[in-house]
Amino acid sequence: MYQKSQTTKKLLLIGGGHSHAIVLRSHINNPLPNINLSLISENLETPYSGMLPGHIAGFYTHDECHINLQHLTNLAGAKFYINRVINLDLNNNRVFCENLPPIDFDILSIDIGSIPASLTVTGAEEYAIAAKPVKRLLAEWEKLCNEIQDYQSSVRIGIVGGGAGGVELALAMQAKLTNERELEIHLYNRDRNLMSSYDYSIQKLMKKVLLRRNIKLHLGETVSKLEKKSKQGNIDKINLTCESGLSLECDRIFWVTQASAPQWLTTTGLTTDKKGFILINNKLQSVSHPHIFASGDIATMVNHPHPKAGVFAVRQGKPLFNNLRRYIFGETLKSYIPQRDYLSLIGTGDGKAVANRGNFTLPPSRLLWFWKDWIDRKFMQQFK
Ligand SMILES: Cc1cc2nc3c(=O)[nH]c(=O)nc-3n(C[C@H](O)[C@H](O)[C@H](O)COP(=O)(O)OP(=O)(O)OC[C@H]3O[C@@H](n4cnc5c(N)ncnc54)[C@H](O)[C@@H]3O)c2cc1C
Repeated sequence: MYQKSQTTKKLLLIGGGHSHAIVLRSHINNPLPNINLSLISENLETPYSGMLPGHIAGFYTHDECHINLQHLTNLAGAKFYINRVINLDLNNNRVFCENLPPIDFDILSIDIGSIPASLTVTGAEEYAIAAKPVKRLLAEWEKLCNEIQDYQSSVRIGIVGGGAGGVELALAMQAKLTNERELEIHLYNRDRNLMSSYDYSIQKLMKKVLLRRNIKLHLGETVSKLEKKSKQGNIDKINLTCESGLSLECDRIFWVTQASAPQWLTTTGLTTDKKGFILINNKLQSVSHPHIFASGDIATMVNHPHPKAGVFAVRQGKPLFNNLRRYIFGETLKSYIPQRDYLSLIGTGDGKAVANRGNFTLPPSRLLWFWKDWIDRKFMQQFK
């Protein structure tokens, strides 16, 4: 544990994810003592994952679903570096960024999210649009929405990954574009079941919803290659091939496979799990380096592994802030135990949502969407 001290310490936050947004907001309300606080984030704003599919479907503006980190750091009196972290030197407590001299820290907290896995599939990096970083996803989505008028024939979208993110994205895109043009959406998933980390009751329900909305499902199919195809007018097509030999030409392919960790973390000396995520204890501290905290998608709780979802990154925010405070004061840190069963409200893109908790699932309804909308707007209100 850290020795209680009156000297000012450097607390450095890497990544402006959900937990760190809450840490900054909490610091504004109840400042951490004797601390020089800094944030390094690639972007000025960070998207709130709960409203992201709703934004794609056209329910929320960009500002409504983004937290302004510049504003938050200003209010928190924190230094803000807009840059990308590329490595850590844990012997000397320094962080390396793409375009800055090394930054020193005494206490470090990491909340950098995740990136979609298997972008190493031939052609995926080049031709697919990854769901993360979200900034690029949204820029590409906006471009497609603008270009769609130029299409001579129907528009065909491929979505690779049938977890909650892929399913929500498919429904949101279908809802937004369906009146614009003749549209085909194809959803590919390696497993035979969609949303494999969820209960069977919601897997079954979401499959029904997708089929009713005319989204073509390719379950048990592993995408193995993407390649650029013939040009039609000014528009490139991408050919998607599966291991089974199934092949399809698409206008755009979105890559929403399960979460993975960035490569650079593996050389830092931090203990990670087999997938490269930082292993943390119940106090949200690295199991190998107690002065380093981690939360959100990038962290795996050794004793309580849970799915990579924004809802956990949000819930870890407050306990993270409280444990940072205790660490600074030299007090005993408190455990955070995530709920085993938690409520998921999943938008279906058409002004409705479904609800799930454990093996209890409710079908799409407007009431559930109003409830989700109320929760999400209330969450965002605290950052305005
Ligand atoms: C399409 C889609 C829909 C989803 N919908 C939902 C949903 O409805 N509900 C839900 O709970 N979850 C949802 N998720 C999952 C959710 O997005 C993630 O679980 C959540 O964003 C994780 O939050 P986080 O705080 O860990 O990281 P993030 O929200 O990803 O934030 C990480 C931040 O760190 C920054 N960063 C990353 N690397 C670096 C670096 N090297 N240097 C500096 N800064 C860096 C990023 O720019 C980003 O701002 C969805 C995911 C997708 C892809």
